[in-house]
Amino acid sequence: MAHDFLPRLTGSFAQPAAENPTVAMVEAAYRHHGLHWRYINCEVAPDDLGAAVQGARAMNWAGFNCSIPHKVAVIAHLDGLADSARIIGAVNTVRRQGDKLIGENTDGKGFVTALQRITDPQGKRVVLLGAGGAARAVGVEMALAGAAQITVVNRSAQRGEDLARLITDQTPARADYHRWNGTYAIPEGTDIVINATSIGLFPNVDDMPDIEFSTLQDGMVVADGIPNPPLTKFLRAAQQAGCQTADGLGMLVNQGVIAIKLWTGVDVDPQIMRQTLVDLDL
Ligand code: NDP
Repeated sequence: MAHDFLPRLTGSFAQPAAENPTVAMVEAAYRHHGLHWRYINCEVAPDDLGAAVQGARAMNWAGFNCSIPHKVAVIAHLDGLADSARIIGAVNTVRRQGDKLIGENTDGKGFVTALQRITDPQGKRVVLLGAGGAARAVGVEMALAGAAQITVVNRSAQRGEDLARLITDQTPARADYHRWNGTYAIPEGTDIVINATSIGLFPNVDDMPDIEFSTLQDGMVVADGIPNPPLTKFLRAAQQAGCQTADGLGMLVNQGVIAIKLWTGVDVDPQIMRQTLVDLDL
């Protein structure tokens, strides 16, 4: 029987790269589904990004992820952008299409997929805490998934105003900006509250977004983008208030599921990937 010693190659370019668990969850999915594919986690400095992308082209990689600090800089080295990556202005996944490398953004799509297990964004009123890279991806994809109204709540006015304008100008949703300079009361009628800030990320696990917790109501859905720890103090407080919750591990897993689909065409099992991350006890 003929052997095939040549796996299809994918991977990640980031700095730092050593703490990024994506390789473990993606290769678990490849193994589980019998895919003759590999995912190579690469430490790439900003000055070397162009050479790394050229290397991926030369070695016929099927695609790769980009993480900090390359999500914006990589665009200059690509041949095209998918619509949502163009609106967000950042790329976390690159796929080969013939000879071309196309930039995609699966962060926000992964968030929406995870959220849809609990609620459909269609027609919903959303409070989005944060206006950084993760919030841009989540805000744009929530809008493209049909959210009616998005209130961006952010500490720095410039980033918050920019994101609200971006959503209003480039998507069917309406968005406004609220300056976050004290305890924020969630407006009545809000359906979904999202923490897309870095507040609560390990090791600062006791930190919580500064909101008026009595304004979280039974029936609201509360989501957190923080993947580590999966059950943040914010989500625990929301559960105590009777809210349904979606965690950042779901976002992380599903952005990977969508990237693997773009590369391989295969729908992999998110549960295998989630369990791999849970077992690693990050
Ligand atoms: P950025 O640095 O781009 O943005 C950070 C955001 O958090 C800004 O809006 C910032 O506000 C806000 N913020 C930080 N500290 C505070 C504070 N003390 N009070 C109020 N606001 C604060 O980071 P990213 O957007 O790239 O990442 C944010 C988080 O999202 C990370 O923790 C990361 O773990 C998570 N993430 C999760 C993913 C997943 O798959 N689960 C994928 C990508 C990211 P300001 O503008 O005022 O500075």
